[in-house]
Amino acid sequence: MDTNEQLRILGSTTGCISFKERFERSSKASLAATKINVLQINVGKRCNLSCRHCHVDAGPERTEIMSRKILNACLDIAKQKEISTIDITGGSPEMNPHLGWFLCEAGKLDKRLIVRSNLVILLEDAYAGFIDVYAKNRVEVVTSLPDYHDDGTNRQRGSGAFTRIIQAMRLLNQKDYGREERSLVLNIMHNPVGAYLPGAQKALEAEYKKRLFTEHGVVFNRLFCITNMPVGRYLEYLLNSGNFEDYMAGLCEAYNPLAAENVMCRSTISVGWDGTLYDCDFNQMLGLRVNHGMPDMIMDFNIEKLRSRKIVIGNHCYGCTAGIGSSCQGATVVGAG
Ligand code: SF4
Ligand code: SF4
Repeated sequence: MDTNEQLRILGSTTGCISFKERFERSSKASLAATKINVLQINVGKRCNLSCRHCHVDAGPERTEIMSRKILNACLDIAKQKEISTIDITGGSPEMNPHLGWFLCEAGKLDKRLIVRSNLVILLEDAYAGFIDVYAKNRVEVVTSLPDYHDDGTNRQRGSGAFTRIIQAMRLLNQKDYGREERSLVLNIMHNPVGAYLPGAQKALEAEYKKRLFTEHGVVFNRLFCITNMPVGRYLEYLLNSGNFEDYMAGLCEAYNPLAAENVMCRSTISVGWDGTLYDCDFNQMLGLRVNHGMPDMIMDFNIEKLRSRKIVIGNHCYGCTAGIGSSCQGATVVGAG
């Protein structure tokens, strides 16, 4: 489904008032950034999987891949003092042919360096070498594991995905990933398998740790919950299953002003594969580039202007503000995670 159609559908939701109105009513102001700590880079839409919950609509047939020139521009921006975290996502980031080089360069900057990997790809011969590249550059690896049961995970990520993720976790554990004391960091993102909000983050983390260790002998550091965003393939799933209106009404009903104050776009800038700037990866997939007169291409990046920019919002933003809040770092309500 193209972005215009997605925006039309999101805008026509009948179960709630517009997010803009809701936010401005609760916070008495427009949503605006306060800083840029996180540089999130989407290095391409190509992926070895085609997960049902994917907001990127990624898959093996996608051809969009970030060039070395754009990655070089990202590296220059990452050097700025205000940026403390470089967060790499996709698609499957490993399918960008420049990723290895980029990580070696970014690893020298002494910043928090994150790669969001589906892990399944690390079992393929052509990509297995990334385990050493990650360890060498102290990359934090984050992977999506919707369920600690194989059927729940396989339903979202494809047949056999659970077993392969566990296999890859074992390889990472052997490289000192996921152990508590001064280890390399391996985190899990949990998202609900159905059309409902995630459960309590801390309780889920404890349950995942227990089940994954006792049943599979693997360990990880932290678990973060993320709400499924009504964007991309997940929006199509909601529409096809007849759950769209109910899901949106549920998100709207669970609107939390505290979560709304802490949405990740207030401290993040997101870069698309072609160098376009967005407020977050979700806006990126809806084609909503930074606006309100801001420089919107990486070659024109200006941190002074962008750090206080007004955020481009829409009804999909209810996904970040429901319940205990949702972001690429999990719950956003302080104390809830
Ligand atoms: S959710 Fe991640 S692993 Fe799955 S298709 Fe999308 S980008 Fe690929
Ligand atoms: S969807 Fe993006 S722009 Fe909207 S609240 Fe979430 S992070 Fe901010």
